[in-house]
Amino acid sequence: MVITHSTHDAPKQEVALPSALAGINSNVLDDAILKKLVDPDVYYALAQCRATGVPMDRGFADALAKSIREWAQSKGCIGYSHWFSPMRGAIHGEKLETFVGVDFATDRLIVEMSGTQLFQTETDGSSFPNGGLRKTHEAAAYIGWDTGSPPFVYRQTLYIPSTFVSWNGEALDQKTPLLRANMAVNELGVRLLSLLGDNETREVVCNVGWEQEFFLIDREKYLARPDLLAVGRTLLGAAPLRGQEMDANYFSRLSPRVSRYIAEARDIMWELGISIHCTHNEVAPAQHEISPIFGLANLVADTNVLAMDVLRDLAFDHDFAVLFHEKPFAGINGNGKHNNWSLSTDRGVNLFVPGKTDEDNRRFIAFIAALLRGINRHGDLLRCGVSTAGNDHRLGAQEAPPAIITLNLGERLEAHVNAVADGGRFGGYETDEKEIKVVAPVADIKANLEDRNRTAPFPWCGNRFEFRAVGGNQHIAFPLAMLNAILADSLKHMCDEIDAGKPADLVIRETIKENKGALFSGDGYSEALNAHARQHGLTHLKSSPEAYTALTADKNVELFSDLGIFNRHELTARQAVLQEAYASELYVEARALLRILRTLIIPVAIVDADVERASGFQSRLFDEKRKLVEQLLSETGKLDELLGAFPNDDPGQSAWYAHHELKPCMQSARIVADMLETLVDGRRWPLPGYSEILHHHQ
Ligand code: ADP
Ligand code: MG
Repeated sequence: MVITHSTHDAPKQEVALPSALAGINSNVLDDAILKKLVDPDVYYALAQCRATGVPMDRGFADALAKSIREWAQSKGCIGYSHWFSPMRGAIHGEKLETFVGVDFATDRLIVEMSGTQLFQTETDGSSFPNGGLRKTHEAAAYIGWDTGSPPFVYRQTLYIPSTFVSWNGEALDQKTPLLRANMAVNELGVRLLSLLGDNETREVVCNVGWEQEFFLIDREKYLARPDLLAVGRTLLGAAPLRGQEMDANYFSRLSPRVSRYIAEARDIMWELGISIHCTHNEVAPAQHEISPIFGLANLVADTNVLAMDVLRDLAFDHDFAVLFHEKPFAGINGNGKHNNWSLSTDRGVNLFVPGKTDEDNRRFIAFIAALLRGINRHGDLLRCGVSTAGNDHRLGAQEAPPAIITLNLGERLEAHVNAVADGGRFGGYETDEKEIKVVAPVADIKANLEDRNRTAPFPWCGNRFEFRAVGGNQHIAFPLAMLNAILADSLKHMCDEIDAGKPADLVIRETIKENKGALFSGDGYSEALNAHARQHGLTHLKSSPEAYTALTADKNVELFSDLGIFNRHELTARQAVLQEAYASELYVEARALLRILRTLIIPVAIVDADVERASGFQSRLFDEKRKLVEQLLSETGKLDELLGAFPNDDPGQSAWYAHHELKPCMQSARIVADMLETLVDGRRWPLPGYSEILHHHQ
């Protein structure tokens, strides 16, 4: 072998850190900084409050607030805002308050932020989506600092991540249910471990690594599309000249312009403690993905929203617009947000990693059994957790996971788990990595334990599960709360059975046996999955309105109240909020489409036909165009009527109507408009087309 180049002897050089790396975490007030800022007593009091929820002593809270304010001022802040997530997608709420107060003894302005101001604030709950939990005359709601998620500085403001509850203590946000579900998983996870003989584990936490997909398009084109402006997706548009054909886009090179944008976004995110480590072009043209290193579910639910904010805000500076919608363009992939999800203990054990010993594998399989039971009995809740008007365009289509939720363990692990159910030993699942020979000088490759299945909604990835059905525009806290809830419910069931005297091994085996219908490692895009679902009685909720109905099924009301995640009242409210959001999104879409067709498309098509008629050269195309215009006039008439009859009294009914009436009518009108787009004089077409929008990179 000839070695032509060696760097072995290169002198070591002191390399200055690039400024972005030097700025890592500089805008986030994590515990490492906090410990340096405050007295140990104050830090200890905060740690106590974090663990128990009991408020800090007032003096300590004031001292803490003072230190935090001074830190924020040193970063250029003039004020603060609680930063919370109302039930309206992945968009936070904020209300800025300056650090300016009045000293009434001297009647002078002073700079201050009290402990009370740091920990809580009051607001009008009736002005946020609340599903009837708040009314105009009973409106009080409270925003409270989630001390598990560190404050940060962004755009000269100190932000304090928070939860949001009504005057009666009912959840009005996305985070409170997740925190409650995390607590249930923690308690029941520790309890199951102890019943399996582990009396040392004190805590089970949930880790998540999100992958965020998005489109980046020219701002100018974005502003020229009223549909993108109104609803974040194109309501019409003929297929581009080149879409996903030739598999040309996935992992393709980032264009210089996109690369500059993403590099700057990453720097800002690093400063905010968001550990972006992976960036790549996605399957559709103009589509990209970023993902951070995983972290605690509660924390990364916040940082995902923050990362989306950074991407949106920075897009202005780069003349881009960023689209997170689950289906901004028909006919090409939409945006998902895979949630890589795992559980680990305070002793550093990842509960979804198979062990070498029988004992370790028993624990691993016990947790798999609980998850399997959760998915089998409550797949409806997972489906509900990912149900939005936008995500309905994705689920069940050829690019995204199916709407039937199953557990994909991979062929070998599935076989092993089935063998355990039949009385086989817990150990014995071969965990030695498979080696793939390539060709020298390429070293043999160590492969994952199981193959990758992109058609599965919930595949095992060797140390975690990937919840792939979550939508690109969703707040991840809600789907994660659903997932952790169904897991906690099954952990509880198993614990109760063992406590009642059944041997633990038998409980594990029976749980797998009774729920193995939810195991599916095949092709989730094939008819085989439908057949499997029918055979095993798995729920198949085809649309969001159907999934929302399931939320208040008796079994689900019982599950959530048993675990202390939602009472019946909160559940009905949450259902109404989801239904309202679905119905109003489709209503706005239908109205926008009608306006665009009537005021832009039809007039242009008529002018086009007129010009052709006047030219004296009337081709066969002329007749075709005329027919399409007539069809479009009739479609818009129908849409107008349907909008006029939109029911407003009951959110459930509105959602059904939007799904069954508006959606099909919008679709058929769109098909006609898209055909016209391919026939009408392109110089006259009033909207930027898909090709123009999607190929700005080149
Ligand atoms: P993919 O090839 O599936 O797109 P990526 O590399 O884009 O994968 O993202 C994988 C994500 O999974 C990252 O956010 C990573 O931090 C996260 N991850 C890795 N291990 C775990 C784990 N044990 N628990 C939760 N998330 C994890
Ligand atoms: Mg990825």
